[in-house]
Amino acid sequence: MKTQIAIVGAGPAGLLLSHLLHLGGVDSVVIESRSRQEIEATIRAGVLEQGTVDLLAQSGVGERMKREGFVHEGIILRFAGRSHRIALSELTGRSISVYAQHEVIKDLVSARLDAGGKLLFEVKDAALYDLDSASPKVRFHRDGGVEEIESDFVAGCDGFHGVSRPSIPSRHRHEFTRTYPFGWFGILVEAPPSTEELIYAHHERGFALVSTRSPQIQRLYLQCDPEDELKSWPDARIWEELHRRLATSDGWKLAEGRIFQRGIIAMRSFVVEPLRYGRLFLAGDAAHIVPPTGAKGLNLAVNDVRVLASAFLEYFQSGSEAGLKAYSASALKRVWRAEHFSWWMTSMLHRFHDDTPFQHRLQLAELDYVVSSKAKAITLAENYVG
Ligand SMILES: Cc1cc2nc3c(=O)[nH]c(=O)nc-3n(C[C@H](O)[C@H](O)[C@H](O)COP(=O)(O)OP(=O)(O)OC[C@H]3O[C@@H](n4cnc5c(N)ncnc54)[C@H](O)[C@@H]3O)c2cc1C
Repeated sequence: MKTQIAIVGAGPAGLLLSHLLHLGGVDSVVIESRSRQEIEATIRAGVLEQGTVDLLAQSGVGERMKREGFVHEGIILRFAGRSHRIALSELTGRSISVYAQHEVIKDLVSARLDAGGKLLFEVKDAALYDLDSASPKVRFHRDGGVEEIESDFVAGCDGFHGVSRPSIPSRHRHEFTRTYPFGWFGILVEAPPSTEELIYAHHERGFALVSTRSPQIQRLYLQCDPEDELKSWPDARIWEELHRRLATSDGWKLAEGRIFQRGIIAMRSFVVEPLRYGRLFLAGDAAHIVPPTGAKGLNLAVNDVRVLASAFLEYFQSGSEAGLKAYSASALKRVWRAEHFSWWMTSMLHRFHDDTPFQHRLQLAELDYVVSSKAKAITLAENYVG
């Protein structure tokens, strides 16, 4: 097969890149190791920044999101048993939308297939070759045979565990990592919303987050040991912990319901630099990871792709490589801002295993400052909405 851009990975980054390139008249082929059913059913992110929402809408894939997503104009910080609202829209003029990542995936897959786009699912053993030549190649197994894509460029959009980043020789990769000594125990629950806006709770027993997916389904998280096993969290323990960590003095009640999905998420910060090697460009989780506390991962993937798509379009329309040369530095600027914000939120809201009462008091002082100083609240708000 020949194409202009070979895209590895049909996550939000790969699919949106393929869609934006198509709108600009550039051809691509996307390969994905999982099935369409699997990628459309994987529950992950849910908070979309205003810029993400605008890009999806402007590029013609935002119709269902506008209809079924929920615009949130604030978030709640809860600590010392009291709730404090950060008025995102009032402070920044922008808002966030809650619309699940797998719904974004469904919208993008159907837009690509309706436009005759080439998405190859269930490919195995993808390998990248000749990345430092003018015609890089991606070889893989599909339906029992070996296939190869020859392209002008390769976009590595295959997430943190993908094959693209390790295809860059290690001497050309500079990696920055921080692993947090805790994880998030996440559940999906059949229940009505307990709150109109997301609640981020600091508690001496650990962090908790109340989020939503729809009027019938809620997403709740608890800080946990990353080595915990699911079986050590029976339903009764989950609800007891949530009630304790979210308790307030204002009569607020957590709505319980049937837990129908549960999982443990590791918390990590990671960045590789640069985002380019020869004719391979990395985007999204393939290049960087943030802990989910700042709700930035999906939004960063979208921003990378916004910058990368316009650089590819510039190259194919005018022959200029200026955008491609600038891509890594330009995308990394936003990546590091989000890395800092996600680290700051994580550090302020979680219990660390070596915490002393002194550190606990520092966290409370920081939270108190955020909710009592307009300048500090704006800092949080403008980072949160993007
Ligand atoms: C529980 C959870 C909650 C989150 N909440 C938020 C949130 O609220 N807001 C937010 O912005 N972000 C959030 N994130 C992060 C967000 O989900 C990711 O940042 C986002 O999925 C990144 O998109 P991507 O396309 O770069 O990578 P991915 O979504 O990981 O997609 C990569 C794709 O590549 C495929 N692939 C991998 N290897 C290969 C290979 N060798 N060959 C072919 N295909 C391959 C994978 O199957 C996958 O489909 C959350 C993440 C988790 C886990």
